[in-house]
Amino acid sequence: MSVVFSNIRKILSFSSAVMEAYDVVIIGAGHNGLVCAGYLLKAGYSVLLLEGRSLPGGGCTTEELMPNEAPGFKFNPCAMNHLFIFLGPVIQELELYKYGLEYLVCDPVAFCPHPDGKYFLAHKSVEATCSEIARYSQHDAENKIPMKNHGK
Ligand SMILES: Cc1cc2nc3c(=O)[nH]c(=O)nc-3n(C[C@H](O)[C@H](O)[C@H](O)COP(=O)(O)OP(=O)(O)OC[C@H]3O[C@@H](n4cnc5c(N)ncnc54)[C@H](O)[C@@H]3O)c2cc1C
Repeated sequence: MSVVFSNIRKILSFSSAVMEAYDVVIIGAGHNGLVCAGYLLKAGYSVLLLEGRSLPGGGCTTEELMPNEAPGFKFNPCAMNHLFIFLGPVIQELELYKYGLEYLVCDPVAFCPHPDGKYFLAHKSVEATCSEIARYSQHDAENKIPMKNHGK
């Protein structure tokens, strides 16, 4: 029991030392934690950002996630539609290009492998993507074409 109290005392004194040294403590360096920390720093606050893993980024990292099945291939665990970031002001407001951000825009834009060896590729070109869809369903490929003009 005394060991437990001793540990709690250590944690409490560490916590109060941290809270005195920083205006804000953020747990987790996923993209929300990173963006939050960036804005707080820009606003003049001192920030401690703690990450449990050796790699920051959370769901937005680029990692070799399947070293046995796909050695050498790196991809995001949870950011397939990452391009939505261009709809907001974060890149400009946090001057991310100045700090080394670089986007590699690929074509094909998506590769979906199946365990049986089949695969699907999505391209920038709607026509090329439809050709890929047609390998699985002519009906779906024909219905995808009108989406090209959707919202125009
Ligand atoms: C399969 C999947 C696909 C997705 N696809 C998309 C998509 O295409 N587009 C999109 O916009 N969103 C997508 N999302 C959602 C997106 O990934 C999440 O909304 C986003 O990652 C949340 O960011 P976050 O910073 O809040 O948390 P996370 O990215 O989860 O990061 C949390 C971080 O906190 C760390 N952490 C957690 N607990 C502790 C602790 N106690 N101490 C220290 N560190 C800690 C973790 O290690 C991690 O680095 C997807 C999610 C999933 C699961």
